[in-house]
Amino acid sequence: MASPAGGRATSAPLMGRDEEPSIFELSVPGRRAWSFRTTALPEWTAEELVPDEHRRDDQLDLAEVSERDLVAHVTRLTHRQYSVDLGAYPLGSCTMKYNPKLCDRAAAIPGLASAHPATPAAHCQGWLELLVELGSRLCAITGMEAITLQPPAGAAGELTGLLLMRAWHQSQGHQRTKVIIPDSAHGTNPASVTLGGYETVTVPSDRRGLVDLDALRRRLDEDVAGIMLTNPNTLGLFEEDIVEMARSVHEVGGLLYYDGANLNAILGVTRPGDMGFDIVHMNLHKTFAVPHGGGGPGAGPVAVQGRLAEFLPGPLPVREGDGYSWFTPPRSIGRVHGWYGNTLALARAYSYIVANGGDGLRRVAEAAVLNANWLRQRIRGSYDIPFDRPNMHEFVASTRSLKKATGLKALDVAKRLLEEGFHAPTVYFPLIVEEALMFEPTETESLQTLEALAEALERIAGEAVEAGNAEEGRAAPRTAPVRRVDEARAARRLIPTFDARPLAVGDEAAATEASPAARFG
Ligand SMILES: *Cc1c(COP(=O)(O)O)cnc(C)c1O
Repeated sequence: MASPAGGRATSAPLMGRDEEPSIFELSVPGRRAWSFRTTALPEWTAEELVPDEHRRDDQLDLAEVSERDLVAHVTRLTHRQYSVDLGAYPLGSCTMKYNPKLCDRAAAIPGLASAHPATPAAHCQGWLELLVELGSRLCAITGMEAITLQPPAGAAGELTGLLLMRAWHQSQGHQRTKVIIPDSAHGTNPASVTLGGYETVTVPSDRRGLVDLDALRRRLDEDVAGIMLTNPNTLGLFEEDIVEMARSVHEVGGLLYYDGANLNAILGVTRPGDMGFDIVHMNLHKTFAVPHGGGGPGAGPVAVQGRLAEFLPGPLPVREGDGYSWFTPPRSIGRVHGWYGNTLALARAYSYIVANGGDGLRRVAEAAVLNANWLRQRIRGSYDIPFDRPNMHEFVASTRSLKKATGLKALDVAKRLLEEGFHAPTVYFPLIVEEALMFEPTETESLQTLEALAEALERIAGEAVEAGNAEEGRAAPRTAPVRRVDEARAARRLIPTFDARPLAVGDEAAATEASPAARFG
């Protein structure tokens, strides 16, 4: 056990799946966690609420358990789960960092948490003030002039941004057909381009791992609506030619879209607006302390330069005289989410920004970049580093050589890390790196945790080299409640059942039939 911070101790509670009964096995007819005094409605009310033909006449198959058994069951389940609150989670691109509890407390303030979204503006001035203040801070952070807080995720922000791009070109009298994306881009980028009604044109990366400027120039013409870029890109490298790229795209009348998933690398240091971008989405759930990945809804605000403000989704919170009100821009593309977006995620992000202040946000970026460079330097003796130069908040390693020598794949390393008490890094992304392992330690991990992670990675590579094969790696994870799954089959033929007995091929139908839980699937 190398360190108290990461390490093997945390994997112990994950063991013991076989002994644990499912909630249905705990069920005893008549047992209740909670009972209402009466559920009887006057007959006419029931009839009015749910017409006869929509009422079920058989009993629901629900587990019947006491409150005590229910709490114990759910608590046991949470102990088998890995989470950001338990240990390091170096999942590159996703920025799975520890989120301060202060931000949850701020979002739980009753005046914020209990407000109904239909409350008239005059009665929720505090909420509107928060949204306006958050918007102006996000504009200051990104170097933009106007913003919508509505989109509920990064991908939703991307679509919003592309619709804004469409609206802009429409207003210029010439609808364009293509959007350029680097080959290292996140999968949501081309998907959003297609949804936005454009054709994707890919631009290759050069030997530096950066966009090939000449190749980009060759793709630019009057049909290009714009370019979507992540900077630093998904290799964790800063696009050094960004100002030149912006000039070239603007010269043909295109717009620059900034995918802000990696914003934590540049907070308080540089801004997309200063680099020449026109549209920016932020992933508040990656950069600004909003839990995600099953932890709750996210937020993907989109900020723009002034000339695009009139197209923003509405309604927008605005300052008016001494107070605040809602305003829909004249040429708005319309709503992109119900009401005003995931407002409690917005409240968390606001509290995080205010608690850190400008200097604190800059330290976030500095620590994120320092941690990632430290880890790259430390493991470069054991793993390939395809682009071995100073990186930003994340970097990409590879098991290419290890695979050749021992058969150890990126997937094996990821599974072995689970046994060591760490969450796996992102694997096989970006697509341009063979056997990719993408690490983002984030700014919240201590040196001790980074050391334990590096030691675990060295141990995994070392045992493969020593044995001359990848046996250990292939056997992992031996401590997790679920061992290796057939990834393709698991995704394509999902069987939502608690019955963990291994299925023979062709048994899926029988299992679906037998399981009460599967009826909800
Ligand atoms: C996460 C991510 C996205 C998509 O954001 P979501 O909030 O998950 O929809 C887009 N681009 C990059 C580079 C990302 O890491």
